[in-house]
This record gives sequence, C-alpha cells and structure tokens, in this order.
Amino acid sequence: MLLRLRQGLAPHELGTVLDEAERQGATTRFLDEGRTLLELTADGRASGFRPGARAAFEDLWAVASVLDASDAPELFATVVPGEAGEVAAKDARFGGGDLSIVAGPCAVEDRASLLEIARQVADAGATLLRGGAYKPRTSPHAFQGLGRDGLALLDEARAVTGLGIVTEVLDPRDVEAVGAVADVFQIGARSMANSALLTEVGRYSAEHGTPVLVKRGIAATVREFCLAAEYVLNEGTSRVVLCERGIRGFDRVTRNLLDLGAVAHLKRATKLPVVVDPSHAAGRADLVAPLAAAGVAAGADGLLIEVHPRPETTHSDGAQALSPAAFADLVRRIETLAPACDRRLVRLARVEA
Ligand code: PEP
Ligand code: MN
Repeated sequence: MLLRLRQGLAPHELGTVLDEAERQGATTRFLDEGRTLLELTADGRASGFRPGARAAFEDLWAVASVLDASDAPELFATVVPGEAGEVAAKDARFGGGDLSIVAGPCAVEDRASLLEIARQVADAGATLLRGGAYKPRTSPHAFQGLGRDGLALLDEARAVTGLGIVTEVLDPRDVEAVGAVADVFQIGARSMANSALLTEVGRYSAEHGTPVLVKRGIAATVREFCLAAEYVLNEGTSRVVLCERGIRGFDRVTRNLLDLGAVAHLKRATKLPVVVDPSHAAGRADLVAPLAAAGVAAGADGLLIEVHPRPETTHSDGAQALSPAAFADLVRRIETLAPACDRRLVRLARVEA
C-alpha cells in the first residue's frame, strides 16, 4: 500500500501513521527524500493487508491519500457466491452469462394498474416485477408510496404472474415487512450511504437468502458504491447486485449521466453482478432502449426498466416510463443482442414451458 502523507508533519503526527502501520503488522519505507511517500508491506507483500486496513489509514489526518486502490482486498472484490458472480431470485439469474430483466412501474399506485403492468411485463419477457411501495422522493410533499398496502399488492401480483418482486426498503424498521414480500430488496440511490439500513438488510439477507440490489448514489464514486455493497456483504451474505443508474452530470439533456465505464470496470474489479437502469439515467423514454443496449454491451448482467401504460397519469417518473409495447420491443432487441455479448436472456419458467 502506498500512502501520500501531508507535507511537514510534526514527529507526533507522523507517529500516528507509523503506529497504525505497526498495528497492521506492516513494514514501512519512505520512497522520497521529503518523506511524504510511504510504502507499506504486510506479510512481505503490498497486498498482504486485511480488509479495512486501507480505511484505517484513510481516517488518519496525517495521510493525504492512499494512492494504491488495489492492495487492500475487500469482500466485493473477492467474494465468490455459490457460483462466481451469480445471484438468482425466483426465475431471474444475474451473472455467469445470464441476463435478466426487471420491469414495472416506478411506484405501486393501485391494484388494477399494478396487475395490468405485471401481466404486460411478464408476457414481454421480464422475470422480476419492480415497483416501490415506499418511495424515496426528493420533496416531502410528493407521493410517498402506499407502504404496507403496496406490499400486499406486490404479493398479489407475484401470485398472479409468477414474477419475483423487487421493491425498495427505505427504513431499517421496515426490513422485516418488506423482506416478507420481496424476492430482492432494492436500496435506492438516496439510501446508498445509509449504513444502518445496509447493515440491517445485509443481516436479513444472510439469514433468509434474499438478494440485495444496491443502486449507486447520485454523486457516489465507484469506490463509495463498492463500499456500500461491502456493508451488506459484511453481514455474511454474498447475494448482492450492483445497479448503475446514472450519476449527476452538468448537462440537462439527460436526467443523469449513465456511467458505462463504471459498468465495464465493476465487471472486472468485483465479483458481483451488475445491473443497468437506463430509465433513471435517461429520464426520458426515447433514450431508454439505446442506453439499455449500451449497458448490455458494457457488460451488464441485467436491466431495470420502468414501464407504464399511461405515463401521463403516474405520480412519479412518467417521462421515463416505456409503454408496454415499447418495452416488448426492447426485450426483443436485447434478446438478439445478448448472444453477441456472450450472454443469454433468462425467461420466466412458465413462459418457457
Ligand atoms: C426508483 O428506482 O424508482 C428510484 C427512485 O430510483 P433511484 O433510487 O435510482 O433514484
Ligand atoms: Mn422511478
């Protein structure tokens, strides 16, 4: 591990770094005359550190930065779920060459429209139905979701269609109730940094096996994103899926900036499946299909798509919702594209039969 230290450290300030190095069992060597570049080795190797070693140095005031990101192995980089990098939920499978499509309305709004959309996305080729019963809204005055009533409707939609359910949990106090219905927990972009929630969901996942889809925060670096997943993994589950949904850019042409470089990177740097959400990235329906295709080309193991037959009537995210027909068209295109990208589209078992 390589540390850049602050200039002109007093002996006691430098001492905090050397003491930490000793605690970690590391050998130290200055690489420059100014004594600001400090090389650390543990067990005779730059990569001999335990998870958390990097963070311990980052927390020290005397350390300006840790320069080498690759030498403090963390769970997201090393965890090997059942089969390397694969997560399954009901009929959906992410990773290992399998690509699954998650679709549904932004929010669960009423029984009739939820069942209508669930049937439409199941027929078109989704394996998981996604809709929020608890909605993280930017404004406290906006529709906040149906809560427990929404969960009951999702349960019914699963029974009717055979789709698994992906739904967001916002509050650690709701983890049990959401877990009773969800086949996959969603941690939304606004919650990515909520470590108490990540820990609670991780604990539930370790006990019950429910996978956790972690969305990237709107201004999160790739490393912060990975460390959010690490909170979940740290509780003893391996069933985590990363979701790139766009980060805040400076241009208003799209709602967010879909970071496909991060998708390609994450497929190399972590063992976790990666899903792309082109709906929240684009913020407009006409760009969803091209961004979905680009996500698959960049390595995505799944897609998360918002669908609504009457987007003008929705409480949230109407502008980015695909019509059921446009969604069916997108699925056909992805099914054609997937084999060229060494992946295959997973279908609902009942549709395959
Ligand atoms: C959503 O999935 O509907 C949502 C609110 O997304 P995000 O957390 O990515 O903003
Ligand atoms: Mn939404």
